[in-house]
Amino acid sequence: MTKVFLVNPLVQINNKERIHFLRDYAGGEIPTSMVYPPLDLAYTAALLREHGVSVSLLDASTLDIAVPELVKTAVKEDPDFIGIPSAWGSIQYDMDLSRYFKNALPDAKIIIWGPNVTAGPETALSCGHIDYVILGEPEKPFLDIVNGMFTENIAYQTCGKLVQTKRTLLQDLDSLPFPARDLLPNKRYIAPYARENPFTTISTSRGCPYSKCIFCPTNIWYMNQVRYRSVGNVMEEIDEIVYKYGIRSLVFRDQSLTFERERLFNICEEIIRRDYPLSWRCFAGVGGINMELLSIMKRAGCYQVNYGFESGSQQVLDSNNKGVTLKESIDAVRFTKAAGMEVSGSFMLGMFGDNESTIKNTVDFAIELDLDYAEFLVATPLPSTKFYELSGLPEDANASLTQRWYNRSYSSNSLLSAGFLDKQIKRAYRRFYFRPAYIFKRSCRVSSSRQLIAQLKSAASLFTTTLSR
Ligand code: SF4
Repeated sequence: MTKVFLVNPLVQINNKERIHFLRDYAGGEIPTSMVYPPLDLAYTAALLREHGVSVSLLDASTLDIAVPELVKTAVKEDPDFIGIPSAWGSIQYDMDLSRYFKNALPDAKIIIWGPNVTAGPETALSCGHIDYVILGEPEKPFLDIVNGMFTENIAYQTCGKLVQTKRTLLQDLDSLPFPARDLLPNKRYIAPYARENPFTTISTSRGCPYSKCIFCPTNIWYMNQVRYRSVGNVMEEIDEIVYKYGIRSLVFRDQSLTFERERLFNICEEIIRRDYPLSWRCFAGVGGINMELLSIMKRAGCYQVNYGFESGSQQVLDSNNKGVTLKESIDAVRFTKAAGMEVSGSFMLGMFGDNESTIKNTVDFAIELDLDYAEFLVATPLPSTKFYELSGLPEDANASLTQRWYNRSYSSNSLLSAGFLDKQIKRAYRRFYFRPAYIFKRSCRVSSSRQLIAQLKSAASLFTTTLSR
């Protein structure tokens, strides 16, 4: 029987600092306080198993397993194929890991995927230890490689030449088995905002119906297409999560759960009808949010909506083709609070057209919105995005990103230096979280010792990761 070893690697710098990556379509670094399950790996494992492949999956990132131990485990497993998801900024580490695997198991074929290697598979393939790059979603192409089929969504080298097969997307998401959560350390997954931990993630759709923001890299993965699972299929998975795994807390990983309002309405109605002991949060765009939808979300157990506000400057939003107004953001927050839910929001500093003054406006806006939580990220021009084109960065996307990652510096564009943005991020976090009014409000809302511990952990993590960098 063919054997596959799937790994979610831990990145360690100088045997000390640990970096966690979310290695899926988002493919970025996440704070150490946020330990998300590797859903794509669990989907891939489930599909392979369904086709008679023997699969082991090791979430080394969550279990804190360093490279030597990881390689020992792989040697014990003695697989025919090893699968490694990659992320923006992790490619150098992933290539190093593949070298260790190849040295220990020369006959095993090494397969890598991720938005970074989809945008440019050359770097990974030229290292000499990686046999195949999957372009886009991993499940079906991984199975194809195992079955010796190399016609779609795969890149490889032959006689020193790069071969890139055509890109396609799996259209019927209901045809996928549910993620193999039995292979994951489910109790170890924690999210700082979750009402209950452990939690898990679920994805009811893939792709973004809007797909026009110039900084957004999701199109590399989803090719401007959006696909939805049926409500029945989603409910079956939630049944399994609640009753088979005993998990009571969910995060919907859809780019925006609220885009397809009628469908979300149906999902909420079903959750209410089944009376699950479940709380959940989701990501949403501010456009088209209304009270009717928010009310049913609240009744179905939603306690928090995370909006991608991105900027507090209308001009910057327009320059980045975000397609929303500041008024829509203000209304969305007002409605969500009125419906009785928390509001968290994401902002990006250093977007196209940003300057010191608009960055200040963005942080002011986050404070004025009186959000429960805010995250501030550096807007990084990622390869294959319009933002990247406009930023005039070098052609060799992965090499440049890797280099900047090693240097611990990101530069958004020629006008804003990495050091400047780094300072702005720290200042934004300080200004938002260390306000006496904010600290007082959050302390008043803590309703249990579990919640207090979770919030203290998040605060500690904020200090040690974000602010110390
Ligand atoms: S709405 Fe969100 S997911 Fe869609 S293109 Fe914009 S940033 Fe990307």
